[in-house]
Amino acid sequence: TEQMLQKSEKLALLGQMAAGIAHEIRNPLTSIKGFIQLLKSNHPDEEYYTIMLSELDRINAIVSEFLVLAKPNAVVFEERDVKVLIKDVVTLINSQSILNNVQIFSEFDRDLPKVFCAEGQLKQVFLNIFKNAIEAMPRGGNIDVKVELKGDFEISIQIIDQGIGISRERISTLGEPFYTTKEKGTGLGLMTCYRIIESHNGTLSFLSKENEGTTVEIILPAVINKESHSRDMADTLGI
Ligand code: ADP
Ligand code: MG
Repeated sequence: TEQMLQKSEKLALLGQMAAGIAHEIRNPLTSIKGFIQLLKSNHPDEEYYTIMLSELDRINAIVSEFLVLAKPNAVVFEERDVKVLIKDVVTLINSQSILNNVQIFSEFDRDLPKVFCAEGQLKQVFLNIFKNAIEAMPRGGNIDVKVELKGDFEISIQIIDQGIGISRERISTLGEPFYTTKEKGTGLGLMTCYRIIESHNGTLSFLSKENEGTTVEIILPAVINKESHSRDMADTLGI
């Protein structure tokens, strides 16, 4: 375990460095983009400017994914309702899903306990996974979200798509930085997801069948409400 601790400390440091560098890259990037847009407006027929702008967008996408990991020390953990977080993210992704002919259905257990989490980070995880699900269904389809209590102490969140799926050999590659099969992908979304879920003491796993779809499951520890717990206990004992 000592070695594992060292490894995660190193990873944390690496994440902080990456986030710092990402932040520094952003400002000059914005100014370059501005100048290229200016040049483009003077030479509307020049296609190189369009290519440059789309390449800059790509750098920006990569940098933005790293920035999610920025300032890990400043992240605040609070008790939150997963249902509310998921509904927020579904609203956020609504236009993208309509545009891609994707419908999202959700099913929540009643009386779900809360999770102790960094709200913004968890939302980022859900967003990345929804995006991947939409991108896996080029001709549209359904996404089913199921949130249920698992045992007494855990919450299971399943996001199920009907997309192209992932082959058995590639499943172990998921989460490796820069692994992508998409023309405009960054291959950083799942790496970020793994890091965030790990920092919440949860797990992230994939079940997939090619040409049928993928189920992404996130398991998070539930907040056990000590008061209601001891109240139940007292009721049971008749005190
Ligand atoms: P990106 O989306 O930029 O490619 P990610 O880290 O989000 O990067 O995903 C890495 C790769 O994992 C994707 O390129 C894709 O091949 C695969 N993948 C992730 N989610 C799914 C999914 N729901 N269905 C099929 N493949 C997926
Ligand atoms: Mg992605």
